[in-house]
Order: sequence, then C-alpha cells, then structure tokens
Amino acid sequence: MSSQPDKSFLGHPRGLATLFFTEMWERWSFYGMRSLLTPFLAAAVVEGGLGFGQDASPLYHIYLALIYLMSVPGGWLADRFLGQRRAVLWGGILIMCGHAVIAIHDTLAFFAGLMLVVLGTGLLKPNVSAVVGGLYSKTDARRDAAFSLFYMGINLGSFLGQLVAPFLAQHSSVRGFLDGLGIDPRYAWQLGFGSAAVGMLSGIVQYVRGQKHLGAAGAAPSTPPTAADKRMLVGGLVLVVSAVLAVVFLTRAGSLSVERIDDSFGIFLTLLTVVVFAKIFAGSWTSAERRSLLAILVYFVASCLFWSAFEQAGSTLNLFAVEQTRPELFGLEFAPGWYQNVNALGIIVLSPLFALLWLKLGPRDPSHPLKFALGLLFVGLGFLAMERGAAEVAAGGAGTRVSGMFLVVTYVFHSIGEVCLSPVGLSAMTRLAPGRVASLMMGVWFLSISVGSYLGGRIAHAYRGLSQQSLFLTIAAVAIGGGLLMLLFARPLKGLSEPRE
Ligand code: GLN
Repeated sequence: MSSQPDKSFLGHPRGLATLFFTEMWERWSFYGMRSLLTPFLAAAVVEGGLGFGQDASPLYHIYLALIYLMSVPGGWLADRFLGQRRAVLWGGILIMCGHAVIAIHDTLAFFAGLMLVVLGTGLLKPNVSAVVGGLYSKTDARRDAAFSLFYMGINLGSFLGQLVAPFLAQHSSVRGFLDGLGIDPRYAWQLGFGSAAVGMLSGIVQYVRGQKHLGAAGAAPSTPPTAADKRMLVGGLVLVVSAVLAVVFLTRAGSLSVERIDDSFGIFLTLLTVVVFAKIFAGSWTSAERRSLLAILVYFVASCLFWSAFEQAGSTLNLFAVEQTRPELFGLEFAPGWYQNVNALGIIVLSPLFALLWLKLGPRDPSHPLKFALGLLFVGLGFLAMERGAAEVAAGGAGTRVSGMFLVVTYVFHSIGEVCLSPVGLSAMTRLAPGRVASLMMGVWFLSISVGSYLGGRIAHAYRGLSQQSLFLTIAAVAIGGGLLMLLFARPLKGLSEPRE
C-alpha cells in the first residue's frame, strides 16, 4: 500500500521547505557579501576599505571562479564520504564562520574568511540541490516545479541579502546612527558583512530543525569510498593546503602580486579545461558521438562567454554604481549595492512569465541553442545600455555621476538573458553527453561558470585602463557577436542536441 504523497509545502513535500529556506539564507549571505566585496576591497583604508584599488576586481573574480570550481569536489565528497545532507550542514558552518571572520577588519582575516566561504559553498551549493532531487521519485511529476520553486528561494535570498547588507554598509542613516553613538562610521562595512554571517546562522538553525522532514534523501554517501578515493581525498587536501600556504608565504615575502596570482590561476584553469576536454575527446567515439562532443564544447564556450559578461555585476557594474551613479533613485537615497537587486527581482518576476511563454509556444518553444543565443544577445544588449551611461559620464567630465537607470536597464536585460540560458545550460549539455561521460557534465557545467567568472576578472582589470565606453562596447560586441554566431549555427546544433526519436 503506498502512502499519500506529502503536499504540505505549496503542494510539495515539507522537506522542500527546509531546503528552500536553507538555500535562501545561504544565498542571502553569498549575495549580501558579494554586493560589498569589490567596493570594500577597492576602497581606500581611510574609507574603511582594504585599499586594493585596481586589484579589487581580479581578486573578486578569482574568488568567484573558486566558488564554482569547488562545487565539483564538493559534489564528489558528498557522494563518496559525507552524504549530501551532512555536506550541506558542514558547508553551512564553514560559510558562517567565513563570513564572521570576514567581518573582522583585517586583511589576512578577510582572505581566510573568503577561503572558508569558498570551501563551504563548494560543499553546500551542489548538494542542497541534489537533496531536492532526492525528495522525489524519478517519476514524480512535481520534480521540475520543485526546482523552479527552489530557484525562487535562491533569488529571494539574493534579494533580501542584497537589501540588508548594502543598507547596513552604505546607507547614510546607518553611518549617521553609528556616528551618533560615538562609533567610527567606517564600522558600517563590518555590520554589512556581519549580516551575511547572521543570515547563514539562521539558515543552519532552520536546516537542523527541519532535517527530520527530509526522509532518507541524501542521508548516506551514494557510493562507498574505495581505496583510490581515499588516496584522492588525501592528495586533494595536501594540494589545497600547500597552495594556500604557498600563496600566503610568497605574498608575505613580497614576491607574489595580485597580477601574478591572477596569471597563475588563469594558467591553472586553462590547463584544467584542456585536460578535461582532452580526456573527454580521447575516448573511442562514433562519429555521431564526436559531433555531440563538439556541440558540448560550443555550449561550454558560450557559457564561459555569458558568465564572463554577466558576472561583471559584482565588479565593474558595482564599481560604476558606487563611483559614477547618483546615490538616489526616484528622489530617495539609494545604496549602490541595491542595483544588483534588480537581477534577483527580475528573475523572480520573469521566471514564471518565461515558463508560461515557453509553454504557450508549445512546439515552437526555442531550442537549447536558440536559448543560449538569446542569453548572449541580452547580456550584450545590457552592456550597450552601460555604454550609453559611460558616454554620459565621459561627456560630463571627471566626477560626473549619472542616473541609476542605466544600471537598472542593464540588469533587466541581463535577467532576461539569465532566464533564457541558465536553466537550460546543464540540461543542454547532459542531453548531448554520450552515456559514459554523462555524470561528468555537472562538473563541466560548473567549470564553464568558473572559467567565465575568471575571464570576467580579466575583463574587469581593463576597467580603469581602457575608457569605460570602449570597455562596455567591446563586451557588448563580443557577447552579441557570440549570440549571432550561435543563431547562425542553431540549426546544426539543434540537430545534435535534440535528436529525433
Ligand atoms: N543566481 C544563481 C545562483 O546564485 C545562478 C548563478 C550561476 O549559475 N552563476 O545560484
């Protein structure tokens, strides 16, 4: 006799609520901190920042690239050693400690905190989604809806986190309040970062209390570790610890600049990507399979391109908000970090609308390559709006601040791009992958976001070198060019990604 399916959370199992709120709080902390990261790194010490100036954006992009890269070992660790549920808990604890350490005003503590957040997110992010999947049987029709709801949790957390952290760190009322208490107003930064730690703590408390609703989902490792896995784990830990020690030691000795860290990390990522694809292509494949692998490579490149432009949100666009945008919108004081919220809000509003649109289009629903092309075109269009903003700054001369509407329009375009590309990315690549490498695809998808995030840093590095107008125009041209190429090849790619039954 089968029991009635649990429908206590908006028609879904109660366990989904636990995971929804865990991810909501985790994203609160992630995006709340992200909204302050680059400006804090860049701000001069007298303003309460760390004084990294020009190096702030590349550092932020390395951090972001590591976050997505760590999702690959994070998933593996849960599968073999921890079980997904424990990985989520440990990840949450590491993230909370990381944000708390970041809130201490000290350069070394700041980077140590970032490392903890990287490791914690690598454990939490891929596994919390996996537990969502584990709540449903393979045939449960509610699976897709569950992930859509979960994506809402992501963006709700992102919205709230980016509302609170910039308010605490950047709004004049908070600085005035601190001043009134006789506290140095520069501590406002610490309040902002602290809000990320408090958010993650709420997420952990909520998760621990709600675990009983998860049933058996993700409770135990899916594959017991072999001796080779254990060797790999020890090797991986030794590698991470040595890399961290080497960076700390060389930086202290004065022989490692941010530029060199950036270059070395770029070489590492390039080698990793080459090795992964060489390994994939080296198998013995039929010619049809080889064509599919080629298509995967095209999606990989498109995804890198998309995220490299999109992830400027935390760096160049955020700096533009702080330095060149009037701190008010519709006559009210507007904390610069709030602009990024247009994206979170955009996704919450647009996701259901686009889901409906695709449904309405029925058989004319755009194919995966077309959705990738749309993603690239929209992210490029967003940068065209930024180019107009930069043109106004250039026309006004040094110190000019322009309306925040340029950023709002850009983020609306970027959100449309995200709704088109992000939800189908993994699915497009997995669908193409020949059976033997199917399970690798999750890692390949995360790798593409990681490479894209890193490339974003290389672009952002030009922010103060190149004229802003040329920089934004170049990004727009490359993204739109990529989108047009994708449109051109949509047909052959579609033939590969959606084989006739
Ligand atoms: N905004 C989504 C999240 O935070 C997707 C980000 C991404 O895939 N780069 O999960």
